Parts: sequence; structure tokens; C-alpha cells
Amino acid sequence: MSEPGYDIVILGAGSGGYAAALRGAQLGLSVALIDGDKVGGTCLHRGCIPTKAYLHAAETADAVRDSEQFGVNSTFGGIDMAKVGSYRDSVVARLYKGLQGLLSSRKVDVIQGWGRLVAPDTVEVDGRRITGRHVVLATGSYSRTLPGLEIEGRVITSEQALQMDWVPSRAVVLGGGVIGLEFASVWKSFGADVTIIEGLPHLANNEDEAISKQLERSFRKRGIAFKTNTRFSSVTQDDGGVHVTTEDGATVDGDVLLVAVGRGPVTEGLGYEEAGVHLDRGFVLTDEHLHTGVANIYAVGDIVPGLQLAHRGFRQGIVVAEEIAGLTPEPIIESGIPRVTFCDPEIASVGLTEKQAHEQYGDAVVTTEYNLAGNGKSSILATQGFVKLVAVKDGPIVGFHAIGARMGEQVGEGELMVNWEAYPDDLASLIHAHPTQNEAIGEAAMALAGKPLHAHN
Ligand SMILES: Cc1cc2nc3c(=O)[nH]c(=O)nc-3n(C[C@H](O)[C@H](O)[C@H](O)COP(=O)(O)OP(=O)(O)OC[C@H]3O[C@@H](n4cnc5c(N)ncnc54)[C@H](O)[C@@H]3O)c2cc1C
Repeated sequence: MSEPGYDIVILGAGSGGYAAALRGAQLGLSVALIDGDKVGGTCLHRGCIPTKAYLHAAETADAVRDSEQFGVNSTFGGIDMAKVGSYRDSVVARLYKGLQGLLSSRKVDVIQGWGRLVAPDTVEVDGRRITGRHVVLATGSYSRTLPGLEIEGRVITSEQALQMDWVPSRAVVLGGGVIGLEFASVWKSFGADVTIIEGLPHLANNEDEAISKQLERSFRKRGIAFKTNTRFSSVTQDDGGVHVTTEDGATVDGDVLLVAVGRGPVTEGLGYEEAGVHLDRGFVLTDEHLHTGVANIYAVGDIVPGLQLAHRGFRQGIVVAEEIAGLTPEPIIESGIPRVTFCDPEIASVGLTEKQAHEQYGDAVVTTEYNLAGNGKSSILATQGFVKLVAVKDGPIVGFHAIGARMGEQVGEGELMVNWEAYPDDLASLIHAHPTQNEAIGEAAMALAGKPLHAHN
């Protein structure tokens, strides 16, 4: 039996789904938000938030270890994973409660249960048929593995890694992308010997090459081992640990193997194809308005091909809710989405890499790098790195790239300059507060505008 219809029925209450729910309700629409697990999804419960709590604990451990260089005597007493876990859980619990409160205060009907699309306007949950004038698919993603590589025992993904109540003394990380780099960084700070295996030429291979190379220098300095251009071949495990073999015939031993080779869309068996929704390798295809082309069905978040980031999902959710409410939101430009990898050192970027800019603009590309060695606050923090700007010759800045401790926090200005198509001169005339790492952006812009100040010509 069908229940009275909603304006929007949303399947999946992660970043994309709950943002659509909140914005839809704010615009006066009636909203049903369905999830078989907890509202907040991957990001809140097993992604962004718990990993960033670990990274903060890792930073604290390093601060204690390195405190004497700042004249603070201390003794590092080790990592208590039970306490790290309760710190992580308390942060997640507080945010989870806040989100539940927000959804209820906006009068979103949260429906608990696993749902399936049974008609273009109907989701069935435990025999209940919930209909909507519009349906938003937001079922998110899962940790992928490689063919023949079973996730079991000591071979784990980020989900199991976040549940470990012990610190490995040796960890092997398969994949030098965002998730692999963040866990490698945490475990190293927690005291493990870490080896990363990456099939592509660089760690953080999607970033500007200068950034990837700086990360590799920094990781080498931190004693994080890595093998790039190296493909995984097989793994065995026993009571002593895992034994990983790569295609070059080498082996790496560890207590665990973290498989961090990307995330696949959760779309199988959910009735999407039967409803006529087009899938490409499991991802839901949409137009720029995130409409699937079928009835009033939209899709948001990790199931839509592109960057799998929480803030992209949030924005997509908002855009879809506004579309449904009859507003005309701007479509999202994928390259304008800010990206941060929270390892130590942090990487922040938005817009085009130098290589992509050349592909788009040919020779009419100029770049500058401002080294954090010339930045007062970065010297105080004893961090290395740089800010790199990529611009069209006599034109706007099209790429912002930064690496260094805490540089993730600088991505906001990068986002504004790229998305507002700022010219180097626009930025060079803005005042950046002293002494902040933010000044490095101002200095880079001044250099690009032909008037470097704190830089040796
Ligand atoms: C370890 C890790 C760290 C990350 N760190 C960051 C970070 O620092 N910054 C960042 O921006 N992104 C990060 N991400 C990515 C981010 O978590 C995702 O991009 C984001 O969660 C995607 O949101 P979503 O709404 O598409 O899906 P999800 O958050 O995956 O939510 C989907 C929801 O749908 C529900 N669901 C699925 N199928 C059904 C069904 N049939 N019926 C009912 N409910 C269903 C699930 O229970 C889930 O709650 C990280 C991810 C991981 C794994």
C-alpha cells in the first residue's frame, strides 16, 4: 500500500542526501529521507570526520615528540588506541546528534530501513511504499578492492582500519591516493613503519606534479617508505602478518594490508536500471542539473561520476533541492571544487594543474611557486612546502596548489580566486594578515603580477 506522497523522497542520508533534505525542507517541500544505517553516512561515521580525528591525534603525537625544538620538554608516552577511539566517537556522536536535531527541526521525515526503487516515483522500504513527486538517489559508495584480493583478516579497508584497537608496528598501504595517504600519515605518527605501494608514477598522482614530488620528499623525510610505478601482485597472511608481493617480484611484510584503491558506487540491486536510469560501470549518469533523464529522478554524491568528496555531495544536494523547488541554481563546475588531503604535510588544491592548463590553453600559461621558507608563520611551525599558482598569460588564475602543515585551511582563498576568475593583480592588491600562512598566497600572487616582495628574484 502506498503512503501519501512527498515532494521529495531521498534514498540515502549521507552528505548528498541529507543536504538535499535540509535545503528541500527549508524551501517548504515535504521530504522523506531514507537510510538503512545512520544519517550522516560515510563522511560522518566512517570517513571524513573519524579520519580527521585520527589525524589530529597524529598531529598531537608529533607535536609531543618534536616539542623540544620549541623549548618544551616532554616525554612521548605512546598511543592509547582505546582513548583515541573514544575521542573519535565523542566527536562523531556530537555531530550525529546535531544532524538528527537539525533534520527533525526542519520536519524531515527520517525513515529507517534499506530501500529499493520499485517505480520511478516510489521507494519500497520493508514492504512500505513511499512515493514522491521527485526521487533523489544518494546511496553513496563502498571501499573497492582488486580482483582476487579478498578483504579478510589482516587485509582490510578503511572501515576495518577505523575499528582497529591497536597500532600496527608495520603497515602496508595499497594505494597512494587520498585515503591511503591519510592512513599512512596517521600510522607513521602513531609509531608504525609504513610502506605505500602505488601503481601510478607518483603519490597523490592526481595533484600537480610539483605537489606530488614535494609530498614524496616530505614523506621520505618522515621515514614513510613508498614504491611508485609498482603494481600489486598477491598477498598471503598468517599469524605473523601479511606478505605482499608486487609485480616486480619484491615482497613487503606488515601486520596489516590496507587496501585503499578507490571507492565504487552503491547502485547494484537497487532497482535503478529497472527504472530506466543509465549506469556506467555502476555510476549513475546525469545531466549538469543532476537529473537522470528518467521521470523526476535525480542523483547526487559519490554515485555520480566525479570527485568523491563530501562537500561536492552537499552542494549537489542543495542544487537538486533548489531545482525541484523551481529555482535556477548554477550547475556545478567540477574543476572548481576544492580538494584537501589531510596527511602531514597537507595538500590543498582547486582548479587546473599546470599540465591540465597547458592542455587547455597551450603555451599561454604562467606559473609561480612561493616557497614557505619565506613565510614567517610557516617558519614558526617549522613546516616546508609552497603555494603554486597557475594562470593564463595576461588572464585569470586557473589553478591553486599548496602543500605544507595546515595548508588545507588555505583552500578557501584558492577556491574564491579560481571560481571568481581573479587576475594576479586583483589578488596582489589584497592585504593578507601577518604573520599567517595565508600571506604565502598574497606573495605568490604578487610574484605572478610581476611585483614579488618577500622573494629573491
Ligand atoms: C576514509 C574516508 C575518508 C574520507 N575523507 C573525506 C574528507 O576528508 N573530505 C571529503 O570531502 N570527503 C571525504 N571522504 C569521502 C566522503 O565520505 C564521501 O564523498 C561522502 O560521504 C559521499 O556522500 P554520499 O551522500 O554520496 O554517500 P554516503 O555518505 O556514502 O551515504 C550514503 C548513504 O546511503 C545509505 N544507503 C545506501 N544504500 C541504501 C539503501 N538501499 N537504502 C537505504 N539507505 C541506503 C547508506 O547507509 C549511507 O548512509 C572520505 C571517505 C572515506 C571512506
